[in-house]
Amino acid sequence: MFFVLAGVFDPQAAIRLRLDRFSGVPAGYLVVNLQYRNRSRKALQEERALFLSETENMNHQKYMQEALAEARSALAAEEFPVGCVLVQDGEIVARGHRRNSRAGKSNEIDHAEVVTLRRLLSRHPDIDCSSLVAYCTMEPCLMCYSTMLLSGIRHFVYGYEDMMGGGLNLPLYQLNPLYAQMQVQVEAGVLRNESLALFQQFFRNFSYWQDSLLSQYTLAQPLQDT
Ligand SMILES: [Zn+2]
Repeated sequence: MFFVLAGVFDPQAAIRLRLDRFSGVPAGYLVVNLQYRNRSRKALQEERALFLSETENMNHQKYMQEALAEARSALAAEEFPVGCVLVQDGEIVARGHRRNSRAGKSNEIDHAEVVTLRRLLSRHPDIDCSSLVAYCTMEPCLMCYSTMLLSGIRHFVYGYEDMMGGGLNLPLYQLNPLYAQMQVQVEAGVLRNESLALFQQFFRNFSYWQDSLLSQYTLAQPLQDT
């Protein structure tokens, strides 16, 4: 009986939840987060621009540039151009990019986020993942999102939306208690244009997901001059 009660009511978890929601989080973040599930991606980008301070935007771009460097490494290896960095207290603690997306040896496990998280946990198995921010050049898929959530990560920043297989609009509140109580922060569209440019290069030259809905959508997106 004790274990059942402990599982249902965990005072430490409850405190963490309050701190996540109210400690040191700018008001704009809360507005974006609480309304996330009802907002279009375009509306989210507009809200992000309104609510985030200049400093927050600059920091997001700084780390996203590092994730983009990983994505460019993937593209140079003819891999699907997704990069990821994990940041703790302003320091990059792990980085990685997509592997094994090439024809003949492709799998759907070695995504950039999973590769990066594995790398982090192999070096720092006891790290508190709740203090991490995940910077991903593309919106994480359902596998990567749930893997990072279960590992404790709650703050996600991404560049280009995955309108075909992105997982960040997963309605956590409709799922079982473990997921329903999770409070997640999401920032969309950070350096989107740079990430989009890589995907357009990829879909013009390589076969992975070629002619997919994502490929068609990506190649139809206007690219801004930089
Ligand atoms: Zn993924």
